[in-house]
Amino acid sequence: MTGRQVLKEQFGAEAEGMFDVIVVGAGPAGAAAAYWLGEAGCRVLILEKAWLPRYKPCGGAVPAGGLKLLPFDFAPIVQTWVRRVRYSLDGHEDVSYDLPGPGVAMVMRDRFDAFLVAQSRAEVRDGVAVEAVVEDEAGVTVKAATGESLRGRYLIGADGANSRVAWALGLRRARIFTGAIEAEAPAPAHLLAEYANTGLFRFRSVHYGYAWVFPKGDHLSIGVGGFIKDRLDLRGALRREAQRLGLSLDGVPIHGHPLPIYCYPEPVHSRRTLLVGDAAGMVDGFIGEGIRYAIHSGRLAAQTILTGDIAGYSRLIQRELGHNLTWARRCGHVFYRFTDFCFHHGVRNPRTTRVLIDVLNGRRTYRDAVWPVLGCIVESLMRGI
Ligand SMILES: Cc1cc2nc3c(=O)[nH]c(=O)nc-3n(C[C@H](O)[C@H](O)[C@H](O)COP(=O)(O)OP(=O)(O)OC[C@H]3O[C@@H](n4cnc5c(N)ncnc54)[C@H](O)[C@@H]3O)c2cc1C
Repeated sequence: MTGRQVLKEQFGAEAEGMFDVIVVGAGPAGAAAAYWLGEAGCRVLILEKAWLPRYKPCGGAVPAGGLKLLPFDFAPIVQTWVRRVRYSLDGHEDVSYDLPGPGVAMVMRDRFDAFLVAQSRAEVRDGVAVEAVVEDEAGVTVKAATGESLRGRYLIGADGANSRVAWALGLRRARIFTGAIEAEAPAPAHLLAEYANTGLFRFRSVHYGYAWVFPKGDHLSIGVGGFIKDRLDLRGALRREAQRLGLSLDGVPIHGHPLPIYCYPEPVHSRRTLLVGDAAGMVDGFIGEGIRYAIHSGRLAAQTILTGDIAGYSRLIQRELGHNLTWARRCGHVFYRFTDFCFHHGVRNPRTTRVLIDVLNGRRTYRDAVWPVLGCIVESLMRGI
């Protein structure tokens, strides 16, 4: 049975002009959900408030395991691969390691997101901001800023950290935001060569967070993110990071966006609406990763609509992703509170990076990573004695 037949069985004949699913937001979460629903034969409409392709402030780091969640060849839109990682403790100490496996893909989000949307069979309408959502027995009515009303049997809220859909339905009212800012900085040839396949993480350059330098082929992405709300001087930290590299950010636009950190299980669905990605608060509180969780939650939402078990969606999200994200936040709390200790006895051990890469590729959870990392720390302490 196709997805359309499944939905017809659930609801009977479709009304004129009604979509099976309306997806609000054309980021990776919405595009992934639209892709899987389209593959199952559903009639899907994506509404996106920006004109596509649109810029999205993001480091654009996607582990190979994140790309594997979708059956596409991403080669045309990967800027470069990070195969070596460099860690620094506020500029005083540096260690670097080669990454196992293919490494981490570096993408520009305008190209990446547009590529994902193009793979879906959805009808796409950009430049349409959703303002209100009303659910009823037979479906969902979405009201757009253009004045139109659109009907769907189901709605997927993939509209990011400041989700209008979540707000309209009274979901995620107590969300916790931190923030990150980023600049796409032109760099001289020697710096582009130095960072060609290397990603830098500098800890303690900002309170409870880190600064990064990621290669993007013809420029560098320099950014800073923090994982608690207070005492975040992100702009100051970004400027310091640029100075360290000998770069000027004069005239370079600096973009920021909230990070909706996952904190605890909470409802991310209502009668006919499912939240995905940042709209559902799916950002890791240790390193700020969100793209992989966006894609994964998009797939879970599509599966849920096709099986009709809407009531089980929030539980499914918690089981499949939320549990891991809770542990990410716990690891973040320990790491950023005891950064010096964790750096000297954990980060400096190459095995810790291998464990983290396993987590990023979905081969282990943060919880499963705790014991091996503790093992690295004990080993380091014993060596000291
Ligand atoms: C500075 C920064 C750096 C980051 N770096 C990384 C990184 O390196 N790796 C990583 O994995 N994660 C990173 N993240 C997190 C990552 O960007 C997000 O987790 C990811 O974009 C979530 O995808 P999404 O599809 O849920 O939402 P988004 O990508 O935010 O997409 C939401 C879409 O919805 C649209 N929209 C919003 N409101 C409406 C509306 N009312 N009507 C219609 N459309 C609407 C928006 O225009 C947008 O296109 C970073 C975040 C920041 C802020």
